[in-house]
Amino acid sequence: MDYRLSAEQREWRDRARSYALDVVAPVAAALDAQVDPAAAFSWELVEAAHERGLRLAPLPPEYGGGGTDFLTNAVMLEEIAAADMGVSVVLAQTWKFAQLLMELGTADQHARWLRRLADNPRGLMAASFTEPQAGSDNVLTYAGVDGGMQMSAIRVDGGWLLNGTKHYISNANRSDTILAFARTDPTVPVKDGCSAFIVGSDNPGVRFGVVHDKLGERLANNSEIFYEDCFVADGDLLGAENTILSDVARLLRGSNAYAAICTLGVARTALTRAIQRAKTRVQGGRPIIEHSVIAAELGQLWAQLESARTYVYRAAWASDHADPFDPKMAAAPKLIASETSFEVTRRSLEIFGGSGVMREVGMEKLLRDATIFLHSDGTNTIMRKKIAADLAARSDEQLRDLWNW
Ligand SMILES: Cc1cc2nc3c(=O)[nH]c(=O)nc-3n(C[C@H](O)[C@H](O)[C@H](O)COP(=O)(O)OP(=O)(O)OC[C@H]3O[C@@H](n4cnc5c(N)ncnc54)[C@H](O)[C@@H]3O)c2cc1C
Repeated sequence: MDYRLSAEQREWRDRARSYALDVVAPVAAALDAQVDPAAAFSWELVEAAHERGLRLAPLPPEYGGGGTDFLTNAVMLEEIAAADMGVSVVLAQTWKFAQLLMELGTADQHARWLRRLADNPRGLMAASFTEPQAGSDNVLTYAGVDGGMQMSAIRVDGGWLLNGTKHYISNANRSDTILAFARTDPTVPVKDGCSAFIVGSDNPGVRFGVVHDKLGERLANNSEIFYEDCFVADGDLLGAENTILSDVARLLRGSNAYAAICTLGVARTALTRAIQRAKTRVQGGRPIIEHSVIAAELGQLWAQLESARTYVYRAAWASDHADPFDPKMAAAPKLIASETSFEVTRRSLEIFGGSGVMREVGMEKLLRDATIFLHSDGTNTIMRKKIAADLAARSDEQLRDLWNW
């Protein structure tokens, strides 16, 4: 095992770090404080990411990227999330779904949709699975035909008509291109009857509703999408009909690792700030880091954060290299990272005493941001159930293999 980053990975990390420190960090608190949730989003930050070659980093150079792999993307996302988690999510969503379009799309779809995305300095992507009546049932796919997403895609002359409502969709109202997930066979369970369609946000059948007002991760917008007799041409079906949920599980191996590293970036900043604070805050006649309980607390938090972080990097590495990829390496690191991040951020805030909850100090923003991935990208209960389902399905022999990674 070699845990060192390559020279190229360090170059990407430094590029992301300078974007985070020079561009994102100076404006993050003011944007987060906007009362109107839509106003917490900034096009300037997207354009600056574009200028620095970050907006579409995983795509090949002909589409404005650098062909970065899951691990390099995780390294970059941690840097950006350390400045603001919402901005890291804006990019992570675009990276994930542009990667999916690259992997599943036809040459014609690349030429039209990836070209359009690359040519638009504000080009972001969204993917809409969740509906008001169907959240977890799309993630731990429900076995009956009556659960899971109900948005319909009906065949018409030359294409499909989409009808349905989605909510909570990251980047939706800011997107250039959307992957719309719909039921193409309502007579079978959701896992076997869904397909994805590539839809321009300027399609006349697409309308955006409320921008959700969120506790944290406010620099990313989430909104409703209404698909109303939305016509999609045959050529814009992504991948094969009815198999998309299995394809997503197979190809978006790094999705949970991206979520995990974004939330760890928040905890990293919280703990760094707590260490700095403990070295300068004097109570009981000495800097509080010299009180053994505070020192022990910092040591404990560092160990917890570093172990979760190491695990997530292994998950990102596995997304690039493991064959076959163990699906538990998606769910388990997201579960551990989000719970560790919340815990480390909460306890780091306590090191600030009363000032931890004062808005001008900035720790309360970190705690709000650290709540988001406890449930986003699939709730942690669903992560546990996915892991358990995999374990329960194994024979004794396969159980012994669990430890052979
Ligand atoms: C910030 C944010 C960003 C998001 N971005 C996107 C996006 O870009 N695209 C998208 O499609 N969606 C997105 N979502 C939606 C997200 O995926 C869902 O919120 C999530 O899957 C949970 O679904 P739900 O909110 O409907 O909760 P529910 O499914 O209603 O769950 C409610 C509770 O019941 C529990 N539960 C549910 N089913 C079971 C079960 N079978 N067994 C035991 N317990 C269960 C859950 O763990 C939870 O505690 C986003 C959500 C948030 C908050």
